[in-house]
Amino acid sequence: MTGKLPVAVLGATGTVGQKFVSLLADHPWFEVAAVAASSGSAGRRYGAVARWREAGPLPPRVGEMMIRDCAPPLPGLIVFSALDAEIAGPIEQAFARAGAIVVTNTRTHRMDPDVPLLIPEVNAEHLGLVDCQRETRRWSGAILANPNCSTAAIALALAPLHRAFGIERLFVSTLQSVSGAGYPGVPSLDIIGNVIPFISGEEEKIEQETRKILGTLESGAVQSCDFPVSVHSNRVAVVDGHMATISVGFRARVSPDVARETLRAFHAPSAIAALPSSPNPPIEVDERLDRPQPRLDLERGRGMAVTVGRLRPCSVLDLRMVVLGHNTVRGAAGQAVQIAELLVATGRVTAEQGSTTVR
Ligand code: NAP
Repeated sequence: MTGKLPVAVLGATGTVGQKFVSLLADHPWFEVAAVAASSGSAGRRYGAVARWREAGPLPPRVGEMMIRDCAPPLPGLIVFSALDAEIAGPIEQAFARAGAIVVTNTRTHRMDPDVPLLIPEVNAEHLGLVDCQRETRRWSGAILANPNCSTAAIALALAPLHRAFGIERLFVSTLQSVSGAGYPGVPSLDIIGNVIPFISGEEEKIEQETRKILGTLESGAVQSCDFPVSVHSNRVAVVDGHMATISVGFRARVSPDVARETLRAFHAPSAIAALPSSPNPPIEVDERLDRPQPRLDLERGRGMAVTVGRLRPCSVLDLRMVVLGHNTVRGAAGQAVQIAELLVATGRVTAEQGSTTVR
């Protein structure tokens, strides 16, 4: 070990798990100390089991690690979860009960009233929910959640506009990449040359999670926004990157020019902007008529920036726009690492005699 904070990755062999391994390879603060997956993979060398699909090489140190079972204790002050949602709940709870800080990408706990659903640039104050979580659940660890992969980009792009003008109604239609379904995901014969107008549970997640993220923390609870949200989710034959075409109505009339200025002026608070994974700026506005596009714009801010384009008037609501975000970086592993950085930077996670405390 190198003096960095040890972290563990649950579901390390999967699409999001591999992105964690890749992003953590040269991380200035964290070091992967354990990789865990299903019992079919446990006990075998990571390099022999993981079908490595990241662009860079598999970090040799992790490649040599033995895959562990997803059960506490594991070495690692912080546990990143990239597990199948069907089995994640009891595993994540067991780690929190054992004192670990779990930052999860699964849907399981996102809408629990005592679990913060975080986009650090938008609602870092929701971290305060952890105090009531520890009290009500009587555990020494914590569970913090990352939003659904589309919601992460949509809510980040809408946050400055909501703060300035107050969203009244929201209509979203998504075009989501195949990597959003994990590996092997959608069968190639179903998706090549095709569009599938259904992604199980996705529309409900985007509707509920967006309202929670943009909600306010009052007396130890998040009051979700009450504006109506209507979502259509579509799977398209794109490898990475979720796009959303959005129409949005506000309490006050908003012109495209003012909306563009508002988005360009948006910056994270300085403590969050200084985190190693934070992009600067978090939202990039592109005025070219045919942008953003996944193939050309996905890697902005090393996958952590969202791109907003095609801001124009809407004859039904006030504004139309297109939002693009990287589903496995901003929508999963990258932002989960950013959340862990926030915990360290704010002194909420400290290493004390080998255990973790959340303040
Ligand atoms: P994936 O590629 O299918 O990977 C699933 C991982 O879970 C694998 O490491 C697998 O290990 C492990 N696993 C499966 N069953 C298990 C069990 N019984 N016990 C322990 N581990 C088990 O899925 P993914 O796309 O990475 O997604 C992981 C989670 O992140 C899901 O909850 C997903 O909804 C969420 N998410 C995904 C994205 C995305 O863009 N893909 C974005 C945001 C959130 P084995 O290899 O050993 O089977």
